[in-house]
Amino acid sequence: MAANNGNGVAMDKHRLIVSLALLLGIGFIGTSLASYFVSQNAIRESIIATELPLTSSHIYSEMQKDLIRPILISSMMAHDTFLCDWVTSGEKSPEQIEEYLQAVKSSNDDKGGIVTFFGSEKSRLHYHSGRSILRKLNPDESRDAWYFRTRNLREPYEINFDPDFDNRGALTIFVNYRVLDKNGALIGVTGVGLTENTMQQLINDFQTRYQSHVYFTDAGGKVILSAKDSGMMGKNIREATGMDVRATHEQAQRDGVLRYKKDGRLHFLNVWFIPELNWYLFVEKMDDAALFATRETLYVNLAISLVVTVLVLLLTNMVIGRYQRRLEEMAATDTLSGLPNRRVFDLMAQQVIDGARRTGEPLSIMLLDIDHFKRINDRYGHLAGDETIRKIADTLKKMLRHSDILSRWGGEEYVVLFKGCELDYALILTEKFRAAIEARDFSYSGQHIALTVSCGVAQYDQKETLSQWFDRADHALYQAKQAGRNRVCVAAKWVA
Ligand code: GH3
Ligand code: MG
Ligand code: MG
Repeated sequence: MAANNGNGVAMDKHRLIVSLALLLGIGFIGTSLASYFVSQNAIRESIIATELPLTSSHIYSEMQKDLIRPILISSMMAHDTFLCDWVTSGEKSPEQIEEYLQAVKSSNDDKGGIVTFFGSEKSRLHYHSGRSILRKLNPDESRDAWYFRTRNLREPYEINFDPDFDNRGALTIFVNYRVLDKNGALIGVTGVGLTENTMQQLINDFQTRYQSHVYFTDAGGKVILSAKDSGMMGKNIREATGMDVRATHEQAQRDGVLRYKKDGRLHFLNVWFIPELNWYLFVEKMDDAALFATRETLYVNLAISLVVTVLVLLLTNMVIGRYQRRLEEMAATDTLSGLPNRRVFDLMAQQVIDGARRTGEPLSIMLLDIDHFKRINDRYGHLAGDETIRKIADTLKKMLRHSDILSRWGGEEYVVLFKGCELDYALILTEKFRAAIEARDFSYSGQHIALTVSCGVAQYDQKETLSQWFDRADHALYQAKQAGRNRVCVAAKWVA
C-alpha cells in the first residue's frame, strides 16, 4: 500500500516536473520567438520603407554624377579651342596634344582610373594619355572600329563599353565625342575612358558605405559591372528575380522595393535605369546583417531561459522531495513517542515473516500494555500520561537490540518483534522489561508515579498469518491482565 502510494507520489512529482518544464519551455521559447519575429519584421519594414529607397536613390544620383562627368569632360575637350586650333594649324609638335591630354586627365582623375584620347580625322593619328608612341587608326582593325563609328554618328557622342588595348585591354567605359571645326566639319574624335577598375572601386565604396550590394546590368539584364568578389559578373538578373530586367525594373518602380528569395535568404531590391548608358543600376540589401544582432539576442534569451528553467525544475524537485520525505516520515512515525507506528510495523513485520518463511529463522513478538493507565491519566493528568508513554518507549528502546522492531501499537500498548529469537529467550527479555518498568520511577512534576505493565509473548509459527500470530500474543496479554496484571504470559501454540 505504502509502496504504491510512494510510487504514486513519485509519479505525481514526475508529472509536475514535466508539466512545469513544458510550461516554462513553451512560455520562454514563445516569448523569445515572438520578440525575435517582431524585431525581424521591424528590421524588414525599415529596409523596405526607408533604408533601401534612401540608399538606392543616393547611390543612383552619385553614380549618375560619376558617369555623366566623363561626358562633360569629353564635351569640354571637344569644344576646346586649343584642340581645334592645334589640328587646323597642322598638328605640329605632338608633345602639345600629349601634354594637353595629360593635363585633362590629371585634373579630373583623382583615383588614377581615367584615360583621355584624341583621334585625328586628317592624320588618322591616335593620341592616348596612356601611351607615348603614336599609332594610326585603321578602318580594317576592329580595335579602331569605335573611331569610324563615332565619325559617322549623328549625335555628338556615343558611350560604349570596350577593352582598352592601350591600357592592357582593361574593360573601359568610353565616351567618344565628335570634334568639329568652326564650320561644323569633323576634325576628329576625343573623349574619356573610365576603367572598369575605377567603376568597381566606386561600387566597393558604396557597398561598404551603405551596407548593400551594387551592380549594373546591360539592357538585356546581364550583369556587366559589380564588385569583384560578388560572383555576379555575367549572370542574368532573370536567375535571381525570375523576370527579365525590364519587368524587374517595372515591378521595383511600382512597388518601391522588390523582394525575392534566393538560397533561403530574402533579398530586397531597387532598380534604376540610366538612360545615358542604357544600363540598369541594381541596389540590393539583405536583412542578415541587421538580423545578426537580433538573432544573438534570441540565443542569449533562449540560453537564459534554459538556465532559469533548469534552476526552477531543480528547485521544485528539491522542495517537493524534501516535503515528500517529511510527509513520509510523518506518516510513518508516531509523534508522541517517535516510534514507528502500527502501519509501518505491519509492513516491516510482513517482510520479516516472508523472509523467515524462506530461511526458517525463529521470530517472536511481545505485546505490552500499561496496567490501569486510565488511573494515571485521571490522577496526574493527560500530560503526565503522555510523558509516561514516552518514557516507557525510551526504556524499551534502550533495552532492545538493533535488529528488533519496536512500535507503538495503540494508546498505551507497544509491540516488539524479536528477530532470530525463540520463545524462551523472548520470555526472558520480556520479563526483564516488565521488571525494569516496575522498578523505574516515572515521576512527573515532582509527583511520584509507579506503574506496572502486562505482556503477552508468542513465537511465530510458519503456517500462521501475521494477524493470527498477533491474535495469539494479544490473547496471552489478555490472560496476563486476567491473572492480576504486572506479569508476562506465553501464548498457546498455534493450531490450524
Ligand atoms: P488495563 O490495565 O486493563 O489496561 O487498564 P487501562 O486503564 O490501561 O485500560 P485500557 O488499556 O483499556 O485504557 C487505556 C487508556 O489509556 C485509555 C486512554 O485514556 C489512555 N490513553 C490512550 N492513549 C493515550 C495517550 O496517548 N495519552 C494519554 N495520556 N492517555 C492515553
Ligand atoms: Mg490498553
Ligand atoms: Mg492498559
